[in-house]
Amino acid sequence: MTTAGYNPYESAQLQFDKVAQTLELDSGMRALLRQPMKEFHFTIPVKMDDGSTKVFNAFRIRHNDARGPAKGGIRFHPQETVDTVRALSMWMTWKCAVVDVPLGGGKGGVICDPHNLSQAEQERLCRGYVRQLYTQLGPNQDVPAPDVMTNAQHMLWMLDEYEVITGGHFPGMITGKPVGMGGSLGRTEATGFGLVYVLNGYLRCIDKPIESTTVSFQGFGNVAEYAARMYTQMGGKVIAISCWNQADAKSYTFRKKDGCDITELVAIKDAFGSIDVAKAKALGYEILPGEEWLAQDVDILIPAALENQITPAVFPRISKQVKIICEAANGPTTPDCDPLIQERGIALLPDFLCNAGGVTCSYFEQVQCNLNYFWSMEEVLEKLEYKMTQAFRGIYDLAQAKNLYMRDAAYVIAVDRVVSAVKMRGWA
Ligand code: GLU
Repeated sequence: MTTAGYNPYESAQLQFDKVAQTLELDSGMRALLRQPMKEFHFTIPVKMDDGSTKVFNAFRIRHNDARGPAKGGIRFHPQETVDTVRALSMWMTWKCAVVDVPLGGGKGGVICDPHNLSQAEQERLCRGYVRQLYTQLGPNQDVPAPDVMTNAQHMLWMLDEYEVITGGHFPGMITGKPVGMGGSLGRTEATGFGLVYVLNGYLRCIDKPIESTTVSFQGFGNVAEYAARMYTQMGGKVIAISCWNQADAKSYTFRKKDGCDITELVAIKDAFGSIDVAKAKALGYEILPGEEWLAQDVDILIPAALENQITPAVFPRISKQVKIICEAANGPTTPDCDPLIQERGIALLPDFLCNAGGVTCSYFEQVQCNLNYFWSMEEVLEKLEYKMTQAFRGIYDLAQAKNLYMRDAAYVIAVDRVVSAVKMRGWA
């Protein structure tokens, strides 16, 4: 998806060029890391329930696998573009490196709207994706996971197709599987919880108790929901949440100044995952236009929807009270907005750190599949908290020591790790 002239791949490349400069990378290394190493563009013919055949366009892009098998989700979205998948695959490389898991970066996408597909059609689409790509997938090669509009059931269909074709059991070939079918406890919660571990790590560093803070969210999908649950459980107050409404193709901001009740809002999500406007009104929520999430008088903004949401055009609408932007989505801030955020002294907790909890838990899932022994929820969350907090501390300490913007500090750490792997392998 490219939003109002912003191309996420160009943003990802601009961010990389900046860090390449700081790290004084040579031209060969720059050329290798500023684009994906492999791209697969293919079509998937799907027999529809009415007997017709529909052809879907799909991608799988492997940015870099110097540190380990490529890792990253598969998105189903009607506005998917190859450049978005390229950018996301690059961000996956940095994400895996920043939390120091032995994986590379990849991403996949299918141009489709699952809302308009029956379960049986979605199953055939998932199986078709694997049929086209199975020689390139595998636990030691490229490992997909759920992402925008894909879930554990989609992953299991893909695994089953892979195992039928290859004639064996390879549970580590895909992550985000259902619990009991090779999935890890905590995977569903991991991205949202991981974000709160990072946020709380930062709040501790600045001596601000989480109980004294307020938040406004953009988005109420899986990541936002679990982040909001953990954040409110720790005593923080969620003032507003904006959510896409599938029924009238508009977004709304739901506000309760004395604090949203997350369980209550989850209970009134409709079949499309949108918050039911009438029910929310009946529960005493103010219903505001979608973009109002960004203009709330809160301490923390959490963009947890799609890319390119915080731009110079909307930046002046951000309240002077906001002191932290905690990026839950991939690429929610455009590069031309970073200087404005820095100028205003807002602390930016970067996306590929904040939302790395998902892939960290995917790594745990692979480890458990390899052991064929599954950990308790407590064990998973304890390991997750440790990994996320360690990664945050490394970035915070570097940012403090070198007076860096936290996005730049995170890039320096992640890119440096990938560069070392590339050099040790003798690729550049
Ligand atoms: N889709 C998630 C992400 O963007 C998770 C990827 C994974 O677990 O491989 O980080």
